[in-house]
Amino acid sequence: MKTTKVSFFVLSLMLLLVTGLSGWAGAADAESNTSKTYVIGTDITFAPFEFQDVNGDFVGIDMDLLDAIAKDQNFKYQIKALGFNAAVQALESNQVDGVIAGMSITDERKQKFDFSDSYFDSGVVMGVSANNDTVKSYEDLRGKKVAVKTGTEGYTFAESIASKYGFTIVPFDDSSQMYDDVKTGNSVACFEDYPVLAYGVKQNNGLKTVTEPEIGGSYGFAVSKGKNQELLQMFNDGLTNIKANGEYKRITETYVGENASTTANMGRWELVQKSLPSLIKGLGNTLLYTIVSLFFAFILGLIFGFMKVGQNKFLRGVATVFVDVFRGIPLIVLAFFIYFGIPQALGFTMPLFLAAILTLSLNAGAYVTEIIRGGIQSIDRGQMEAARSLGIPYRKAMMKIVIPQAIRVMIPSFINQMVITLKDTSILSVIGLVELTQSGKIVIARTFASFDIWLTVAIMYLIVIITLTKIADHLEVKVRRG
Ligand code: GLN
Repeated sequence: MKTTKVSFFVLSLMLLLVTGLSGWAGAADAESNTSKTYVIGTDITFAPFEFQDVNGDFVGIDMDLLDAIAKDQNFKYQIKALGFNAAVQALESNQVDGVIAGMSITDERKQKFDFSDSYFDSGVVMGVSANNDTVKSYEDLRGKKVAVKTGTEGYTFAESIASKYGFTIVPFDDSSQMYDDVKTGNSVACFEDYPVLAYGVKQNNGLKTVTEPEIGGSYGFAVSKGKNQELLQMFNDGLTNIKANGEYKRITETYVGENASTTANMGRWELVQKSLPSLIKGLGNTLLYTIVSLFFAFILGLIFGFMKVGQNKFLRGVATVFVDVFRGIPLIVLAFFIYFGIPQALGFTMPLFLAAILTLSLNAGAYVTEIIRGGIQSIDRGQMEAARSLGIPYRKAMMKIVIPQAIRVMIPSFINQMVITLKDTSILSVIGLVELTQSGKIVIARTFASFDIWLTVAIMYLIVIITLTKIADHLEVKVRRG
């Protein structure tokens, strides 16, 4: 009787989740058919093509060109700053309608994507630390490490010459991390597109360019092969128009012309101060995602935790599988699987926040299940037996005798889990969630101030976590007394 109730509850919960999910996808589709807003993926750290200004707005040549083209052609769009590799993957799995990210038009990519006319000439160059006078050409790389950015043309190029020149590749997810690796001396050089590196050098990113650009690699706007052809057409038409009316020239000159603005002369403290609003916004998201995920994790933990200590073998088995699976898969893999894998396989679009909440809830849910199981099982069996022998029913004995004691045992582990989940939200920056860590990355992409910004981010995490644990400790004392 009891077990049927539990399984019924679990089943309805799953059903609710699935219907909610498909309803969501359906709603998104319906919307897209009426007044379509195109979702455009981009990089987060590719100045002067895309980066956030001090107000947190996306600016750069790509952003401004897209905006001018959309106005010219009268279409609506929404930007998703995912990082280059993630944006390209999102396009492949149809999570976005197009990508504009200083994306080079290459033969290999043409197999999977359709490109617009090229809108900017580029090419890969080698960058070294500004004070490095020994590495001047590919020949000087023998036995050394070279930083590259995953999924980029620079990476492919480095790979193609790595064995010839005898260097090892160290991959990074974004350009500013790659630069940092060169500045700190772990890698002696990096490969990057020349307009980007040239811009960075001008902003005092601590590097210099030492080779001539490799040929090829003009930038284009991309859509999935055979899809969104009307969007591609509008992009091309708009591009022609803005080239003709001077808008294109105005935009490119804002960023790479003689009078382009720079943050290079800003003081360190001023820079941190200017960055605080976007960091605080990121922190708000971190907290929001933590709270919502912990709520669902708690529900999952309750269900599966009780299944695990229950008498029904089948339910115990189900709960064990749940814990094994979601505790066993690294969070980052789970995030990629849910956000990119499932939508690609099933052909629907998964909203980012849903993917983020699912990932965190399932992962934390597995741990909460174990906390609850451990808590209940830590209470001496003799107590249950004594209660039963006094004629108290199982359920009543559980609620009145075992659980109140178990909760006290569980509290420290819950607090621990809260801290872990809060920190784990930072992993979701890999799928483009703009929480605190991602906000930090975005600011650094613009300012190159790694030390100051990572220090600020770390302090912000510490303040929040210490405050939360203090509050939790206080509550714990109250529970123990009461
Ligand atoms: N132009 C390079 C490429 O397409 C790099 C793009 C980027 O890092 N945003 O691979």
